[in-house]
Amino acid sequence: METTAACPRILIIYTGGTIGMIEDPETGTLRPFDFSHLIDNVPKIKMLNYNIEHIQFDPPIDSSNINPSHWQQIASEIGKRYNDFDGFVVLHGTDTMAYTASALSFMLENLHKPVIITGSQLPIGEVRTDGEENLITALQIAAAIDPVNGEPMVQEVAILFENYLWRGNRSTKMSADNFNAFKSNNFPSLAKIGLSIHYHPDALWRVREKRRLKVHKGLSTDIIIIYVYPGMTETALRQQLDTPGVKGIILKTYGAGNAPTANWFNEAIKEAVDKGIVIMNVTQCVNGSVHQKRYYTGSLLDEAGVISGHDITTEAALTKMMFLFGTGLTPRQVARCLSHSLCGEMSL
Ligand code: ASP
Repeated sequence: METTAACPRILIIYTGGTIGMIEDPETGTLRPFDFSHLIDNVPKIKMLNYNIEHIQFDPPIDSSNINPSHWQQIASEIGKRYNDFDGFVVLHGTDTMAYTASALSFMLENLHKPVIITGSQLPIGEVRTDGEENLITALQIAAAIDPVNGEPMVQEVAILFENYLWRGNRSTKMSADNFNAFKSNNFPSLAKIGLSIHYHPDALWRVREKRRLKVHKGLSTDIIIIYVYPGMTETALRQQLDTPGVKGIILKTYGAGNAPTANWFNEAIKEAVDKGIVIMNVTQCVNGSVHQKRYYTGSLLDEAGVISGHDITTEAALTKMMFLFGTGLTPRQVARCLSHSLCGEMSL
C-alpha cells in the first residue's frame, strides 16, 4: 500500500533517449528531440495534479553517448534541488540506463528520496508507445509515500520499466525488443506494476541512520573491462593489462569466477596486482555469483589477489570502481571497499 502527498513536487531531468526521439525525415533514423515535444504527447500528466518542473540536457542525447560528465551533471542537479522536490524522475535512453542508475547510486550518498529512471522502447509519438505509461508510473512512484510513517516509499535510485521497478545498481538491459527490457538477475523487484503498484517492502533499500545527502562528483575513468574468452592470447591479455594509466580492472570470467590456469595467464594477472592495479572478478553469467574458491580455475585468481565481485553486475562493478578511485582512495582502500556492499549492489 502506498499513498501520495498532496500536490507532490517532482523534478524531471530529461537526458534524451528513445522516449523523446523523432524520426529524421531524410535518413529515417531516430534522433533525440526536445522536452516540449515529449510532454505534449502525454496530456494525461495533468490528471496527476502534481507540481512538476523539468530540466533537460542541451542537446538531449542518445544514451550511447553518455559519459561520466553527464552523471556528474545529473547528480549535481539532484544535489542542488534536493530539498525543493519530493522525488526525481530521470528520462534516459535504455542502452546505458543501468550504468547511469548504478553510477548515481554511488554518487548520491545518504539518498532517501526516490530517483526513478525510465525511458521507452518506442518513441512517445508512436501509437503503441510504452513511453507514456512508463513516464506516468515513474511519476507516481516518485510521489509515493509510505502511509505508515509518511516517508518516501522508494529511497534509492531505481529503474522503472513496463511491469517492474528494479534497484538501479542491480539492473541490466536484457532485451533490445521487449517492453520489459530490464531485469535484476540477482535481486527481487522493488515493485510489480499491474492494476496497482505493488511494492515489495523487504526489497526496498532503507538507511539505518538518516544523514545529509552527500553528492560525490569525482569519477575516475582509469578503469577497464577485460573479457576472458577461449583462445585469448597472452599478447591480447597483456596489452589490456598494460593500458597506460589503468588503476582498476573488471575481469569478466566464466561461471563461478573461473579463468584459464595457464602460467602466462596467472603470471600476467599477478604482475598487474603486484603493480597496484585493483582487479575485480565479475562473472559473465547473468545470474549467480562468483565463488573464487570453488574451482581450482578460480582459486588461482584468489591467490593472485583478485577481489571477488560476488553477484555484482558489470555496470555496478565498473561505476563502483570509478566512484571509489574518484574519491581519491588508495588502491588498497579501494580493494577493501569493493568487498563491501555500499548501497545494496551485492549480496554478501
Ligand atoms: N539508443 C537509445 C538510447 O539509449 C535506445 C533507447 O532509448 O531505448 O538512447
